[in-house]
Amino acid sequence: MNKKWWTDLLPVVLILLAVLFLVYHRRPLKHSQEHEAVGTFVKIDVCATSRREAELNAAFDRAWRYLDKIDKDMNAYDPGSDLGRVNSEDGKSVQVSPDVYRIVSEAVHFHRETRGAFNITVRSLIELWSRAKEINRLPSEEDIRQAMQRTGVDKIRMERAGETYRIACDGCDIDLGGIAQGYAVDGVADIMRQSGFDDFLIDAGGDMYASGKNCRGKPWRIGARHPRDLTEIVDVIEISDQAVTTSGDYEKFFILEGQRYSHIIDPVTGYPQRGTVSTTVIAPTATEADVLSTALMVWGPGEGLDFINALGPGYAALIIAENHEGNLSIHRSEHYSVK
Ligand code: ADP
Ligand code: MG
Repeated sequence: MNKKWWTDLLPVVLILLAVLFLVYHRRPLKHSQEHEAVGTFVKIDVCATSRREAELNAAFDRAWRYLDKIDKDMNAYDPGSDLGRVNSEDGKSVQVSPDVYRIVSEAVHFHRETRGAFNITVRSLIELWSRAKEINRLPSEEDIRQAMQRTGVDKIRMERAGETYRIACDGCDIDLGGIAQGYAVDGVADIMRQSGFDDFLIDAGGDMYASGKNCRGKPWRIGARHPRDLTEIVDVIEISDQAVTTSGDYEKFFILEGQRYSHIIDPVTGYPQRGTVSTTVIAPTATEADVLSTALMVWGPGEGLDFINALGPGYAALIIAENHEGNLSIHRSEHYSVK
C-alpha cells in the first residue's frame, strides 16, 4: 500500500521538479561585472536568465575590450595615445582611431549647442589651475590670459579620407574628461544590445545608462546623492532607456587661499566655476547627459534650467547651488519627476 502510494506520486514529483527547474532557469536574475576604465570603475548589471550565462560572459568580454581600447586611445596623460599625440605634436595632423574622431566631432558639436559652455580645449586652463593648487598660489591675470590663448574649438582641424581619420589642435590642447565617460557608457550600451541583451544598467562612476527594466520588471531606480552629505539621497529617479549623469564640485575640488575651487572651468572667464555644487541630468544618451551636466555646472540654475526646459520632455535636470553664505538651494527642471 505504502509502496503503491510512492510509485503513483513519483511522476507528479518529477514533473514538479522539472517545472521548478525550468522556472528557475527562465527567471531573469541580476548578473554584474566591474572593470576599471576611463578613470573610474565601470559596472554593468544585466538582467538575464542563467541559461544565457555563456552569451553574457562573451558580451561582458566584448564590453571590457572596447573600454580598454577607448582608454588606450583617449588617455591624454599618455604621450603615445592618439589624444596624447594630438596634444604633443602641436598643430600637426595626427592619425586617430574612429572613436577618437567621433568623440571629438561630437564635442565640437556640443560646443556650439551649449553656446561655448562645453569646451574640450580648456586643458591649458586645467593645467594652470592644477599647478596653482600644487604651489598653493592663485594664477595671475596674465597667466590666465596666456592659458586662454591656448583654448578655442575653432583651432581644431579634422580630416577624413575614407577610413583614415586625422585631427590637429593648432595652438591648443584637448581634454575629453567632460565627455569620455558618457561616450564610453553609450558604446557599452550598444555592445550589450548588439549582443542580444535589453535589460541592463551601466554605471561609470555616476555616469549611467539604463536600458529596459530591472529584474523586477520595473524601471531602474537611481538615487541622486546629496553633494554635501553623500550618505543622504536627495531624490530617487526612475529611468528606462535613458541616461543620467552627475557632475559635482564634491569629488574633485581644491581649496586655495580659503576658497573652494571646482574642477570645471568656465571657458569664458578662464576661472573655475563657482556657485554650482552639483548637477544631475537625464537625457536620451549618456554622451549628451555627460556634456550637459558639465555645461550646467558652468551656467548654474538660471540659465541652466532655461536651456534644459527648452530641450523638451526627453531632458530633465536637478541643480544644487550654493550662495555666498554657504546655503544650498535645490532646483528641478520642468520635466523632472521625483518618485
Ligand atoms: P566629473 O569629473 O564629476 O564626471 P564632468 O563630467 O563635468 O565631471 O567632467 C569634468 C571634467 O571635464 C574636468 O575634470 C575636465 O577634464 C573637463 N572640463 C572642465 N571644464 C570643462 C568645460 N567647460 N568644458 C568641457 N570639459 C571641461
Ligand atoms: Mg561627467
